[in-house]
Order: sequence, then C-alpha cells, then structure tokens
Amino acid sequence: MPRRFPRKLKRVVIKVGSSLLANHLMKPQETSLKSLVNQICDLKDKGIEVVFVSSGAIALGLGELGIRVRPTDTPSLQAAAAVGQALLMRLYGDLFKKRGRVCAQILLTWDDFNTQLRHRNACNTLNVLLGRGVVPIINENDTISTDEIKFGDNDKLSAMVAAMARANLLVMLSDVDGLYRKEGGKLTEKISEIHAITDDIRAMAGGARDRNFSKGGMITKLNAVEIAALAQVPCIIANGQTPEVIRRIILDGEPLGTYFLRKPAR
Ligand code: GLU
Repeated sequence: MPRRFPRKLKRVVIKVGSSLLANHLMKPQETSLKSLVNQICDLKDKGIEVVFVSSGAIALGLGELGIRVRPTDTPSLQAAAAVGQALLMRLYGDLFKKRGRVCAQILLTWDDFNTQLRHRNACNTLNVLLGRGVVPIINENDTISTDEIKFGDNDKLSAMVAAMARANLLVMLSDVDGLYRKEGGKLTEKISEIHAITDDIRAMAGGARDRNFSKGGMITKLNAVEIAALAQVPCIIANGQTPEVIRRIILDGEPLGTYFLRKPAR
C-alpha cells in the first residue's frame, strides 16, 4: 500500500550525507551525484519545490587536498570545507544545468536560526529562490562554524531548514536503510513507521559508522526528527543507495526507509 502523507507534498527538503557523495578516496561519487540531481529535477518537473541540504564539503575537500585520514583539528576541517564546497557546487551546477535548472548555494550557521533578523533574511531568500524555480543547495558554513555550534553532518541543519521552509516532508538519505529493531544485541527487521521516539527507539540507534566521513549517525538523525516534529514536519530516513529512492518515496509513495510521523495531539 502506498504511504500516505498528512499533507500534499508541495515543498520537500532532501538531505544527503557525505558518505553518498564521496568514495573511499574522498573523490566525488559521480553516479550518485548525477542520480540525485536527476531525481530532484524529476520532482521539480512535477511541480514540487525542493530544498536540497547537501554535506560533502569536508570529505571532498580532503580528497582534493590528497588527505586520506580525517584531521581532528577544527581549522584543518574548515580549510577542507572551503576547498570542497567550491568543488561540490561546481559539480551540482553543471549537473542541474544539463537538466535546464538553476541551483543556488546557501551556507548557514547556528546564528542564522538564533537571530530573528538573520532567520527572516534566510527565509526570504529561500522563498524567492523557490518562487523562481531555483533549487537551493544548503550546507553548513563550516569555515566559520566550530565544534560547539556544529550541526553534525547536517542532520540537525536539515530539520531546522525544513521548519524554516515550512516543508511538507524531510527526507534524510544516508547509507542505512532506516532504523532497525534490535533484539538480543542483533538487528532484526527494519521499522517502517514510528509515531514517537521513545527510550527503546533511542536504544536501537547507534553512532556514526565511518568516522572518516562525518559526525552524523542514527542518534543525530533521531534528534533531527524531533526538531522537525515540533514544526509538524514528518521525516523519512532512507538509504540513498537504493535506486531511484527519492522518486519512489515522493512520487510513488513507496514505503521505503523509516517514516517518522508524530500523530497529532488530540
Ligand atoms: N557540513 C559538513 C560537510 O558538508 C558536514 C560533514 C562533516 O562534519 O564532515 O562536509
């Protein structure tokens, strides 16, 4: 049975993690990038507005600089992000252009959500871009973000963006199929729908699997789901490696990944 969403999907936020965009040498995964852009353009062709939250700046920056092991100090990561972000946008720009679409870069930090004026400015820019048919590509402004205010592989950032954009759905794509039930220390079946994030659910989520790539993991995703839920935005965590995953989830309503839908309070 196709999945039903509480509201018609007119505006969605799609978030992709670094592990989908860079290979083990931290070089761009061209097939993934192409497929993501094509699927986003397919949604646009159907009249759905898409805000794209993309990580990958640090990973691709490290690749460009020939650094194989993720540094632990913040300035080195910030420098890598400065290199990688430019590369990322070049790649996206070319791919969107091939489909006759324009994309734009928005880099945000925590302060942009915390300060009313900045929040309003970001929100206005986003709305104008969407109104003009542009695909905004959002990342954290890593060059000026430090550890204390970092969003954590953009999971939290994507939730805050989804709230700011008043999106109808947030789809977080990573390299896992969703949240799995854990019984006796073993992962059993994938949970396809969750209505409340309880302590049991949290216990099933682990940390990030590959520290070389990013700081995210299932826990940061669950935190993001909770932020989005406060703004009444349902979320889906799914595997970005599943063929045509965006199209299947959004256009066909296929029940891929784990769907977090907080039941409205009575
Ligand atoms: N904003 C970062 C990026 O795009 C997040 C990932 C990380 O912490 O490595 O690279």
